[in-house]
Amino acid sequence: MMVSEDQLIERVCRRFHSSKGYVRIGIGDDAAVLRPGTGTEWVVTTDAFLENVHFRRNAHPPKSAGYKALARAASDLAAMGARSRCFFLTLGLPKACTGAWLDGFLDGMARAARQFGLTLAGGDTTNYPVVVTSLTLIGEVNRGKAILRAGARPGDLLFVSGRLGEAELGLRLIQRKLHKQKRWSDHLRKHFYPEPRLGLGQWLASHRYATSMIDTSDGLSTDLRHICQASGVGAVVWAPKIPVVRIPSELRRLGLDPLDLALNGGEDYELLFTVPKKLANYLPHNLGGVPITAIGEIARGRRAFLIDANGKSKPLTPKGWDPFRPR
Ligand code: ADP
Ligand code: MG
Repeated sequence: MMVSEDQLIERVCRRFHSSKGYVRIGIGDDAAVLRPGTGTEWVVTTDAFLENVHFRRNAHPPKSAGYKALARAASDLAAMGARSRCFFLTLGLPKACTGAWLDGFLDGMARAARQFGLTLAGGDTTNYPVVVTSLTLIGEVNRGKAILRAGARPGDLLFVSGRLGEAELGLRLIQRKLHKQKRWSDHLRKHFYPEPRLGLGQWLASHRYATSMIDTSDGLSTDLRHICQASGVGAVVWAPKIPVVRIPSELRRLGLDPLDLALNGGEDYELLFTVPKKLANYLPHNLGGVPITAIGEIARGRRAFLIDANGKSKPLTPKGWDPFRPR
């Protein structure tokens, strides 16, 4: 079957709702025209999602690839405390992916767009030997209200949303080729369909609780280091307090350590943030169904330490995801 670029663009666009408001001119002209609010700033992020680097066509259902591509990028808006507005999709596709695979991919992405409140405002479509996507997302914050990585102060408490290591457990199941077995599907959900914490991020920005924030895309050990470096501080993390992944007893034989997955596993897309101690008492333990847990404290110095249940302290070295480091 022959497909043309115009037909593909038409198929992409049909899947997404156009909405007036922020996007004055969307798909169909040479470029989009946006209409930002007054008294606000743009928050712009771009994210690559590549076959054989970020997903595999034989392991990831097309729906998951489409959903996850957008969810990953939306998590960066969440980490700034931004309200999501619109996005641009650059899509390179092999011919073999222009049929059913693309339908599934667009299904997943359209679901994510609805869920995250993002309007597709433009993009580019081309042919490429493997699936490559690049997503650019635009969000908005009230002027000066974006939550940065810099801003943590000694004495601030360190909080994390959700549960850490769950996405990494899913990845390990895929690596051991267990993902085709239905019985493990619950443990694959966080890897296939992560939930960017947009509501929590916006809530923290509007209530001015957080002094710094990042999303956990690379793993707690690595992402905490980013906060420490940007803020010029150190930190202690209380290992027993970390909400770690629950590994079902049938999977014990894999020899996975929940704490290791929580510290060094990537792609949870939770929020890691700091709150001054005197405000921390007013922070709910749960926001819109998302648990929030205090796991440590910001300290002087530049180094991060992990304290175990016996009170013993050791350096917390960043061992999370790095695309340029072999694993
Ligand atoms: P040009 O040749 O001027 O770049 P295109 O034919 O690439 O124009 O695009 C025509 C319109 O379709 C533009 O508005 C563009 O933003 C939109 N578009 C193309 N590909 C995509 C895509 N993958 N997702 C969303 N919009 C797209
Ligand atoms: Mg183009």
